[in-house]
Amino acid sequence: MDKHPLPQGKLWLVGGGPGDPDLLTLRAARLLESADLIVHDGLVGAGVLALIPPHVERISVAKQRSRHTMKQEAINALLIRETRAGRRVVRLKGGDPFIFGRGGEELDAARDAGIACEVVPGITAAAGCAAQAGLPLTHREDASAVSFVAGQCKNLTDQDWSGLAGHGRTLVIYMGLATASAIADKLIADGVSPGLPVAVIERGTTADARVLRTLLTDLGDLVAREQVASPALIIVGKVAARADALDCLGAPGLIASLKDMACDS
Ligand code: SAH
Repeated sequence: MDKHPLPQGKLWLVGGGPGDPDLLTLRAARLLESADLIVHDGLVGAGVLALIPPHVERISVAKQRSRHTMKQEAINALLIRETRAGRRVVRLKGGDPFIFGRGGEELDAARDAGIACEVVPGITAAAGCAAQAGLPLTHREDASAVSFVAGQCKNLTDQDWSGLAGHGRTLVIYMGLATASAIADKLIADGVSPGLPVAVIERGTTADARVLRTLLTDLGDLVAREQVASPALIIVGKVAARADALDCLGAPGLIASLKDMACDS
C-alpha cells in the first residue's frame, strides 16, 4: 500500500461496494483510514462503516424518516466547503459512485468549484449481487449484452427499455422494488416473454442476503408475497435460471400455463 500521506484539501468520491466490507478496493480501505471527514449515504454497509477509525469524523446524509434527505446541493456545498478548508474529504457511496449514485453531479460540482477530486470505483450492486448468487450476467449461451436501468424514475412509462430485455440479453433493474409490477407489465407490453426467469436479490453480499426467483409475469406478486425489502436488485433474463436461488413461483399452474409460450422473445 501507498505509504505517502494523502494530500490535504482534496475530495475523493469513493465506491463502498455492495455491502460486504471484504469487497472494498484496497484504495477505498486506505482512504477510510486516512481521511479527516467521511460523508456517507445510507446504502453503505454497516461492515464498511465499522472500518472507519473512531478519530475520523463522519457525517451521514442518509435518508431518514424523521428528517428530510439532505438536498444534493447541500451535500455538494458541504463537500466543497470542507475540502476548501484543507481537509481530506471522502464522499463514501454504496456500490460504484458513477452507477446511479449521483457521483457525476458531485464531480461536476467539484470541478466547478476548482477543488481537487478523484474517483475511486467500487463494485456495483449488479456485479456484486450476481457474483454472490452464482448468476453470470453474461454467458456465451444465454446473454451477450447486459443493461443497467433505474426502476424508480419520474416517468417509468416514458422510459424506452425496448430491446434491453429478452433473447440473449440481461436486464438489471436498480431501485425497482416499488415499481416491480409496473416494470413487469412494461416489459411484457414491449414483447418480452412473461415466462422469462427473474431473480430478485435482497441485501446482496451481506450475511442475510436472499435470492428469490420466479417468472417475469409473477414479479410484482413475488415482491409483495415475500415482502422483499430495499435494497434489492431485479435481474431479468435467461441467466437468472442459473442462479443459486429459491424458486418462489406463486400461483400453482402458472408454469403449466406458460409452458406453451416460447421463452425466446
Ligand atoms: N451506486 C450504487 C447504486 C445506488 S442506487 C451501486 O453502484 O450499486 C440504489 C440501488 O442499488 C438499490 O435500490 C438497489 O436496487 C441496489 N443495491 C445496492 N446495494 C444493494 C445490495 N446490497 N443488494 C441488492 N441491491 C442493492
